Amino acid sequence: MADTNPLPDWPCHLAGRLVPLGQATVSVLDRGFLFGDGIYEVVPVYGRRPFRLAAHLARLQRSLDAIRIPNPHDVPAWRALIAELIAAQEPADQLVYLQVTRGVALRDHAMLPGLTPTVFAMSTPMRQPTAALRATGVACVTAVDVRWQHADIKCTSLLGNVLARQVSIDAGAVETVLFRDGWLTEASSSNVWTVLDGTVVGPPAGPHLLDGIRVGLVEELCAEEAIPFARRPVSEDEVRLAGEVLLTSATKEVLAVTTLDGRPVGGGTPGPVGAVLYDAYQRAKATDRS
Ligand code: PMP
Repeated sequence: MADTNPLPDWPCHLAGRLVPLGQATVSVLDRGFLFGDGIYEVVPVYGRRPFRLAAHLARLQRSLDAIRIPNPHDVPAWRALIAELIAAQEPADQLVYLQVTRGVALRDHAMLPGLTPTVFAMSTPMRQPTAALRATGVACVTAVDVRWQHADIKCTSLLGNVLARQVSIDAGAVETVLFRDGWLTEASSSNVWTVLDGTVVGPPAGPHLLDGIRVGLVEELCAEEAIPFARRPVSEDEVRLAGEVLLTSATKEVLAVTTLDGRPVGGGTPGPVGAVLYDAYQRAKATDRS
């Protein structure tokens, strides 16, 4: 470990025990390490309360079912584990990370029966976009979506997303918006929305993008705010000509994209629909009881 980058000793949960993060280790034979054979969740926490937790735990169950890992905990046990991590962390706004891998076994591609899934969970201080970044909006670049055809499973095999994210880092941008065969899918770690003639339009659910927890939330917020909403295929041209482009994710909430591949989106400043959705999102945070 580099001295310049010491790991914090926050408590984390590993296989049923609370241990300091820097000392938490798993077997080299863990299938998460060998194959990326596991799933994960990221849950935002505001004022020590997880936001939309029921939806996150339901997605966790869907991810586990999709790759045939038995859920090691029922919902009350997950809630208790998460509450314990939140209580042990200093700031009130946090980000809970949950990971379940298939477990430890001699290397074999087969889904060996009878393994004990490895559960790892931590809560870290929430790091959100700065007010300055929200005010200007963010730069994004685009790339071809070369990921596998199961981007709907929130699995730890994320090399395609890592490579996509690095495209924007190398360009000094905040996210990489992805197109598959000329159609918008999502970004490396966010869902992407366009505003077309006043309608918030995003791609339909399917195997090529993650069903973000904020996807359902954006639909709810649009209904509340009487903003027309649609999910249908969105072409690359439509994204480039959209009046507004928005990113959503657990940490970005609703974030305006103001340049795409160096060209301004709409007027080049955050637009009104994104602003309304951001404000509605803040109200949803204050009232969430999930
Ligand atoms: N797509 C991808 C590829 C992501 O990694 C994320 C963030 N987890 C999202 C979309 C947004 O999902 P959510 O709203 O659940 O954070």
